[in-house]
Amino acid sequence: MFSYRHAFHAGNHADVLKHTVLIATLDHLLEKEAALTVVDTHAGAGLYRLDGDYAGTSGEAADGVLRLLSDSKTSDSPATPAKPAIKKAATEADAPLADAIARYLGVIGDFNPKGGARVYPGSPFIVQHLLRDHDKLKLFELHPTDARTLDANIAQLEAGRQIAVLREDGFGSATKFLPPPSRRALVLMDPSYEMKTDYGRVLDFMAEALKRFATGTYAVWYPIIPRPEAHDLPRRLKTMATKAGKSWLHATLTVKSSKITKDAASGATHRPGLPASGMFLINPPYTLKPLLAAALPQLVQRLGQDRNAAFSLDSDG
Ligand code: SAM
Repeated sequence: MFSYRHAFHAGNHADVLKHTVLIATLDHLLEKEAALTVVDTHAGAGLYRLDGDYAGTSGEAADGVLRLLSDSKTSDSPATPAKPAIKKAATEADAPLADAIARYLGVIGDFNPKGGARVYPGSPFIVQHLLRDHDKLKLFELHPTDARTLDANIAQLEAGRQIAVLREDGFGSATKFLPPPSRRALVLMDPSYEMKTDYGRVLDFMAEALKRFATGTYAVWYPIIPRPEAHDLPRRLKTMATKAGKSWLHATLTVKSSKITKDAASGATHRPGLPASGMFLINPPYTLKPLLAAALPQLVQRLGQDRNAAFSLDSDG
C-alpha cells in the first residue's frame, strides 16, 4: 500500500480530464450565493513542480497539460511533448479552443503567471483558487509524506478555518461532512486504486453518501484498465444513481491502445501506461454535458497518441 505518489502523474491526460470536469462543475455550483462545501476525499500533495524530479521520471505531463499548452501556443513549457499527437484535420486544428479547455488552461495559467506550467495545481489548489471566502474545503490525505506536503502547501495560503486538512481515511470518514450546514456540497473522489478493494470502497462510500445527502454533487474519477472491477465501477454507479432517482453523467477519454506489446528484437515487453480514464458524476450541473460535448473531441485530437484515441459522453437525460 501507498506506493502511489501523484507527483509522478501530475498534469497527465487523466488530470486534464478530471480537472477540466472539476472546474466546469465548480463554476456552475459557485454561481449561487449560498455557501458550498467541497470534500476532496483523496487530495494528494496539492501542488506539483512539473520541472521537478518526480514529474521528470515519467514525464506524464508532457502528454497531458504540456501538450495542450503547446498546441494552444501559449506555452514556454519546461519539457517538450514526447510523442506526436495524432494528425489533426486542418479545420479541427484551427477551431477555437472549447470553453471548458480554455477555462482549464486559464486556471493553470493563474498558477504560472510567466507562462507554461512549471507549477501544476492539484485538486485542492484548483478548488481553493475558485472558492469564495464563505465556502469550505475539506481535504483528506492518508499518505504520510503527501499529507505533510499538503499541510505545508495549504498553510502558505493562510486560509484559516476555510480549509481543513485531515490525515484520515477519505473512504471511511469523509461522509461525516454530509450534509454540510448550507446543504450544498461537491464531493470529489479520486483514489489511487492501488488496491483493487478501492473500487468496492468507492461504491460503499457513494451508497452511504447518497443515503445521508441525496442532493449533493458527486464526482468519481476512475482508471480504464483491463480489470473487471474498473470495468464494473461506472456500470454500478449508474445503477446506484438510477435506483436513487438521481441524474448522472459519464465521460471518458482514451488516448492510446491498452495493448501490451513485445519488441521483436529484444523480446522486451512494453506496457503502455494508463491508456484511458473516466469521470462519473451524480447530480451533475446541467451545464456540464454541452461543455464536455465541445471539449472531449478536442482533447482526443490534441492528446490522442494513436488510432485508439476516443471519447464517450453519456448521461441519463
Ligand atoms: N485528487 C488529487 C488531484 O486531483 O490533484 C490527486 C489524488 S491521488 C490520485 C490519490 C491520493 O489519495 C494519493 O495522494 C494517496 O496517497 C491518497 N490516498 C490513498 N488512499 C487514501 C485513503 N484511504 N484516504 C485518503 N487518501 C488516500
